[in-house]
Amino acid sequence: MDFIILAQTFAKLEGISSRIELTNILVDLFRKTPPEIIDRVIYLLQGRLWPEWSGMPELGVGEKFLIKAVSIATKASEGDVEKLYKQLGDLGKAAEVLKQRSSSGGLTQFIKLQPKGGGKLTVNKVYETLVRVASMVGEGSRDVKINLIAGLLVDAEPLEARYLVRLIEGRLRLGIGDATILDALAICFAGSQGFRNVIERAYNIRADLGNVAKVLALEGVESLKNIKPSVGTPIRPMLAERLSNASEILSKVGGKALVEFKYDGERAQIHKDGNNVWIFSRRLENITHQYPDVVEAVIKGLKCSRAIVEGEIVAVDPDTGDLRPFQELMHRKRKHDIHEVIKEVPVRVYLFDILYMDDEDLTLKPITIRRKYLQEVVEESEILRIADHIVTDDVNKLEEFFLKAIENGCEGVVVKAIHDQAIYQAGARGWLWIKYKRDYKSEMIDTVDLVVVGAFYGRGRRGGKYGALLMAAYDPKTDTFKTVCKVGSGFTDEDLETIPKLLQPLIISHKHPRVDSEIEPDVWVVPSLVAEIIGAELTLSPLHTCGKGVVRPGVGISIRFPRFLRWRSDKKAEDATTVDEIIEMFRGQLKRVSEEAGREQL
Ligand code: ATP
Repeated sequence: MDFIILAQTFAKLEGISSRIELTNILVDLFRKTPPEIIDRVIYLLQGRLWPEWSGMPELGVGEKFLIKAVSIATKASEGDVEKLYKQLGDLGKAAEVLKQRSSSGGLTQFIKLQPKGGGKLTVNKVYETLVRVASMVGEGSRDVKINLIAGLLVDAEPLEARYLVRLIEGRLRLGIGDATILDALAICFAGSQGFRNVIERAYNIRADLGNVAKVLALEGVESLKNIKPSVGTPIRPMLAERLSNASEILSKVGGKALVEFKYDGERAQIHKDGNNVWIFSRRLENITHQYPDVVEAVIKGLKCSRAIVEGEIVAVDPDTGDLRPFQELMHRKRKHDIHEVIKEVPVRVYLFDILYMDDEDLTLKPITIRRKYLQEVVEESEILRIADHIVTDDVNKLEEFFLKAIENGCEGVVVKAIHDQAIYQAGARGWLWIKYKRDYKSEMIDTVDLVVVGAFYGRGRRGGKYGALLMAAYDPKTDTFKTVCKVGSGFTDEDLETIPKLLQPLIISHKHPRVDSEIEPDVWVVPSLVAEIIGAELTLSPLHTCGKGVVRPGVGISIRFPRFLRWRSDKKAEDATTVDEIIEMFRGQLKRVSEEAGREQL
């Protein structure tokens, strides 16, 4: 397949503002794509070469290299490339313009290392060359990389040059979510949306969209029905709903439940195959290198050859053995000498689930069975533990255990249904798990994680910077982001300095097709950055689209006095708090207020 088809698709995708159109364009593209390369096309659509979790090197070649490559390929001087880049604010566009201007004459010594073939660019040639560019390290790699890129740019049409440069910079950022790709795959290969569930389940079990699409395109939807987890490929995590009343929680899960500590650390999905171990984060990044101590403990303590288990990695006070808050784990991310940090910030992993063992898929088994397997296979050690838990149908016992959890440095408890249908719902937030967290002593009892969809210029002391961000919740039903509030406080001076840098690569000239907003910010951005927000209370608002019409016609739900707490870089846009959760939180707040009022009248 010619690369120009992909470049033209990128151009179309950039210009549209409706999600239906977005899906249709993808369906069109998939119909034109040979099945053997659909995985590559999907990765490239997402601006990458392989799944995020693969641990393989990503693209992201520095500007200077690229300017050099563009200069070589177009025969413009580096100064001219740089000038045009400054003028247009986009190196991709600059390359496009220069390609239009340049004559199509051949190159001299620079393209010696270019893969043979020349002529038209194909998706395979681009992909394979980009893999070489991304994989090359060490001395001498710089010139080879530049030559490879220049080689591609020589053969590129102007439009292809625009997207090649953005891809190589790691700045394609079309903001196409997995759900949109799944929709398009269902329409294209399964004939209807009816098979969407089969495709989605396959993806939830093996979070590799490229692989799922390839199996679908080559073998059809039937073969996806029997797909099993695969050690080394992450399973999309099951998530919990939230409620703030213990007896309501118990009745919601069917009366009797497994109640576990809700540890305040980093979620870890641990895969083991003999002496090979992979650790994936909540957003499925490969974080194995941060936890060599956990890897060792898992090799020793998991008594089977192949397994996928889940748990929470928690920092431990080296002096007392007490659990430490989530923030402590950040040292593991920042420090380079990991062996030193192992001593400074020791950790434990508290396992709470097992999803696969010695070729048996356990995700469809009830939790009672999974726990039995877990108990049998884990030999506990200083680092490897099984999550503290009780089984109860008694609200008082639940409350007591909740207090014990808080006392032990946890955030609260997770209450889990134990009936026969209590399977592991990969990739879903459902009522089989309900989190019960500590009251933060403010009207708004919990924080929310919202996505930045736009920004407003600042005034006064914030002149020349951004003064506020337009924040949205995720609505999985429509795969859109609905606005909740405009947040302008809680930022430190350092935050204000970094916001423009964070937003710059995400800025687009129009509202993103997956954003539902009635407010017009000064700049729109691709939904990607997630921040944790707290406020005084949830309130009804005619301006915002979150929960619009659910509580009252024409009115949505917003946050009064929202305050920025921190970035949640461990979350993707689709991991943000959902619209339904915010509606549920609003209802919970109404209930608390009326209970208070009732008490006061007595
Ligand atoms: P939060 O922001 O409140 O941590 P979240 O959005 O990251 O929540 P949720 O599904 O809402 O994720 O809450 C469940 C999270 O709690 C899990 O992702 C996991 O990281 C953590 N956790 C800690 N202990 C447990 C446990 N015993 N069982 C399940 N999850 C647990």
